[in-house]
Amino acid sequence: MLYADSHLHTNPLHGYGAGRVAKKFKKEGGWFIALVSLPPHHYGFTETSIDSYRKTLDLLVREAAAAREEGLSVVALAGFHPSEVDEYLRRGLSKKEVYELAVKVLDLITDYIGKGLIHGIGEVGRQHYGTSPERLVLSETIMIDALELACQHDVPVHLHLEQGGWATAFNIAKILGKISCKSGRVLLHHVNYETGLWSSMLGLPATLPVKTSLEKILAAPGIRLDGFLVESDFIDDPKRPGVSAYPWEIPRFFNEKLERKEVSEEAVFKLNVDNVSRIYGVPPP
Ligand SMILES: [Zn+2]
Ligand SMILES: [Zn+2]
Repeated sequence: MLYADSHLHTNPLHGYGAGRVAKKFKKEGGWFIALVSLPPHHYGFTETSIDSYRKTLDLLVREAAAAREEGLSVVALAGFHPSEVDEYLRRGLSKKEVYELAVKVLDLITDYIGKGLIHGIGEVGRQHYGTSPERLVLSETIMIDALELACQHDVPVHLHLEQGGWATAFNIAKILGKISCKSGRVLLHHVNYETGLWSSMLGLPATLPVKTSLEKILAAPGIRLDGFLVESDFIDDPKRPGVSAYPWEIPRFFNEKLERKEVSEEAVFKLNVDNVSRIYGVPPP
């Protein structure tokens, strides 16, 4: 057991669910997953209410337990994705109402973290796709609240962001400075090559998608791998195959690279064990 998936979603309603995913991932060499909740309507909780989030959090707790039963180390994160901002505005909520719902959701998440049921916040951030400026600024406001909470409690937080290279990474570093956050657990998730390079230079941890930027970052001359993690961003939705990778593509990728001697065992260990254990605060396998 050596491999970690530092950001994935499971959906017991439409897909495999965490138990089956964990079993297969473990069989292929997995030891750790960071399990991130999906927006409530993905699980069939379609009512616009805090209650839908309570149900989502309870489902996440059950999913994390199912993965643990298969022998994985699991960290569970819940958030308020920028796509949820778009979704609720489409449903007719005012901007203020969306913000107030998000504040309640973050409160609820903090409560679950306090009880040890979940371990961090994610995803929050900014839309990576075209949206209106006001939706973007609302999402960012929610992100800043989430960052303050995550830093106060020293828990991991996964940021979903536009991939603007220096502009994205520097902006987050700047916000962290403004809120006096010294956490080493603010992760830029799903970074592309350029944003990954700048995250590393600015000392921000980042997760590399196995299908895209991982290979490019590994090939970057003189790159320090200390802040990097690897993710599948699996969404567990059979209706949208190919949108993301499968978690077991992580062990397959590294095993092939190791066989061809294109990556060192030290690098593999760093990305899958050392960094995971340090950034998520979990004991190594
Ligand atoms: Zn994301
Ligand atoms: Zn995701």
